[in-house]
Amino acid sequence: MRNTAIFIDEVFKEHDPGFDHIECPERVITLGAVLDELKHKNIFIEPSFSAASQETILLNHSLKYIQNVKATSGKIYSALDGDTITSPKSYAAAILAVGALIKGVDLLISGDIDNGFALVRPPGHHAEKDKSMGFCLFNNVALAAHHAIENLGLERILIIDWDVHHGNGTEKSFYESEKVLFVSIHESPLYPGSGNINDFGEGLGKGYTLNIPLPGGQGDIEYANIFNTLIERVVYQYKPQMILVSAGFDAYHGDAMSSMRLSRQGFGYMTRSLLRWADDLCEGRLLVTLEGGYDLTGLRNGVFTMLSELVGTTLDTSFSASIDEAMHCNLRRERTPHPAIERVRDAAKTYWNI
Ligand SMILES: [Zn+2]
Repeated sequence: MRNTAIFIDEVFKEHDPGFDHIECPERVITLGAVLDELKHKNIFIEPSFSAASQETILLNHSLKYIQNVKATSGKIYSALDGDTITSPKSYAAAILAVGALIKGVDLLISGDIDNGFALVRPPGHHAEKDKSMGFCLFNNVALAAHHAIENLGLERILIIDWDVHHGNGTEKSFYESEKVLFVSIHESPLYPGSGNINDFGEGLGKGYTLNIPLPGGQGDIEYANIFNTLIERVVYQYKPQMILVSAGFDAYHGDAMSSMRLSRQGFGYMTRSLLRWADDLCEGRLLVTLEGGYDLTGLRNGVFTMLSELVGTTLDTSFSASIDEAMHCNLRRERTPHPAIERVRDAAKTYWNI
C-alpha cells in the first residue's frame, strides 16, 4: 500500500450555492459518509492543513478579485457571475481548498506522502485571474502549480484535466509558460467553449498546452486509447517533476452535464496510467483535486475507484472497485482511434514526436 493522503474538511460542506444548484454540498457529504466507514482501517493519511494566505492566492489572482470574493464572507447570497453563487462561508471554503493543494504539494516534495487526493469544494479549473466562472472561485490546481514552481523551484509540472469541461482558467494561467504542460480532455461543443484543437500556447508556452476536444458519447475505450497512444507519449518526452490532476467526474455515464460514457473502470484505468507515469518520471509525485461531477453515484464510484488505485488496495465499501484484469486488457488493446484523436495527433506533431 502507498501513503495516500486525503484532504477533506467540514467547511467544504458549507459552501452552498443555494437551492437546486448542482454543485451542492451533498457532493462531499456523500464522499465523507463513505470515508467514515473506512476510518477505523487507517487506510489514508489525513494531514492537517490551513487556509492559503492572500500572498499565495496572489500567485494566480488579482488583488481586486480576491477582495471581491472575500467581501462575500458572511453574506447569505452573492452572485459572482450567473453560475457562481456564494454563501457566508464560501470564501473560507475556497481559501481552505487552495490550502489543501498547497499542503499536498509540500508533502509530496518532502516525501511524507506518496500521493494525495484533495476532496475539496468549490472546484477551481474555470476560475481566471480576474473572475469566477463555472462554479469556481479560486483556481486550486493552478495555485498548486504556481506554488511548486515559484516557491519550491520546480520547472516542469504536468496538469491533466479530464473534467468534461475545458479547464479554461488553468490553460490561461500557463498559456505562455513552458513550466506547465496542460493537457485537457473535454467534450466539445460544451461549456465554456474554449479548448480548441489548435490552441497550443503562446511564446515560451508554445506547445505546452494540449487540448483534446471530443464529441460526446466517448467511453472507457476511447479515453484509454487517448492515454495510451497520445498523452503518454507526450508526457514521457516532457518528463514532469510532479503530476497534478483536475479530476472531474462529469464525464461519467449518466451525469446530466455531459453525454460522455465513462465508467469507474475508465477512471481506474486512467489513474493506473498516472501512477505508472509518476513512478517512472517523478518519484511517484501525484496530487489529484476534485473538480466537477454531479451525479452523486457516479461521483462516489469515480472517486473511490481512484482512491483504490492511488492507495493500491481494493477499498472495502459497497462502492469499491474490483480491479478487473479482463477490462484492463480490453482497454489496453489497440483499435482504430477515433478520428477526433487522430486530428489532435496530427496537429500536435509540430511539437511532439507522436
Ligand atoms: Zn465540469
